Amino acid sequence: MLSTLLSEDILEKIFFISQRLTNYDGVDDIWEYIAKTALTITRADAVVIRDFNLVSGHLTIVKSYGLSKSYINEPPIRLEEGVIGYVVSESKPYIHSDILQSIEWSTSGLASKEGIRSVVCVPLKGKESSTGAITVMRKKVEPFSEQEIFLLKIFGLQASEAIKIVKLVNSLQQQAMYDDLTQVYNKNALNSVLEKTLSLSKRYSKEMSIIFIDIDNFKMFNDTHGHLLGDKLLCDFAQILKKNCRKSDSVGRFGGEEFVILVPHTNKKKAAAFANKIRRSIEKSTFIGRGNSENSITFSAGISCFPEDGDAIFELLQQADRAMYQSKITGKNKVTSWIDELDIFQVDGRGIIA
Ligand code: GH3
Ligand code: MG
Ligand code: MG
Repeated sequence: MLSTLLSEDILEKIFFISQRLTNYDGVDDIWEYIAKTALTITRADAVVIRDFNLVSGHLTIVKSYGLSKSYINEPPIRLEEGVIGYVVSESKPYIHSDILQSIEWSTSGLASKEGIRSVVCVPLKGKESSTGAITVMRKKVEPFSEQEIFLLKIFGLQASEAIKIVKLVNSLQQQAMYDDLTQVYNKNALNSVLEKTLSLSKRYSKEMSIIFIDIDNFKMFNDTHGHLLGDKLLCDFAQILKKNCRKSDSVGRFGGEEFVILVPHTNKKKAAAFANKIRRSIEKSTFIGRGNSENSITFSAGISCFPEDGDAIFELLQQADRAMYQSKITGKNKVTSWIDELDIFQVDGRGIIA
């Protein structure tokens, strides 16, 4: 029986698909490849791939072909829900030659709305349990052959391994880019985003601003409330920065209590107004201290802008840092940018000081 399943043609297919599974361009690419391959090797009319989403706790559709938008947009299913939930939680395949005759599918709308008849669903097996499922479907009552089912099962196993590796690589990449404590870019990632954005700004002759932020009197907060609550303040502080930013902006932790915001396509004046908006937002916020006390905190910031303050990242950071220092020595809780070497432009709670 195995020898008939393992014909030369099948072995060639297995070899080809396993090769391609080691060569991918990110998670989306691999889901697409898995979906398209599952369709081809089983000669199916439709395919759905579901993956267990750790955040929502549901089996979410990550790729599908051949089904209507309304089916795909239906709410994700629970792990113990329906046939697919069974396949994933029991790690067992499911085969049905005509789901119109099956009560298990009667509420899914697959047969009634999508016209699906023959179905095979195989789990995407992890080491201990399954993490998702591939379901292939035909719109005719045409049972999948033993060979097609066999090929899909083998493919399911290989796809699970590939997905595991892609997810691991993704999570390592994330860990390498983000600061453990605050979950904003770490210094390395920030530098590469700054370099990339600067080169785009140069190519398209666009302005770009950098906001250098340093929390005021943070040592005192640490001394009064302890290092742990100091850490919590840094986390909450970073979240407020992120909440105030647009998608195109980037927030990074430059060092201990220093943060940098990159604002592309933005001139100095607009960046100063933006930094001042964040300054007010921080000023209004409270941060937890010893005995659940609510504490206020402020920051001092400096702005630099490409092209007028320099055309290299180290220069722009240096100028923004110098402007920040100017905010410190003139009373803290303010935003400073250079107009030129002599005039400074400051914004604080009392308005604009030229
Ligand atoms: P200024 O207003 O002049 O900026 O004063 P400051 O107290 O904020 O600055 P200073 O440079 O004197 O102190 C910074 C403090 O930040 C000292 C250091 O222990 C603390 N710090 C640096 N990194 C961390 C961290 O990851 N967690 C905590 N809790 N504290 C940190
Ligand atoms: Mg500092
Ligand atoms: Mg400080």
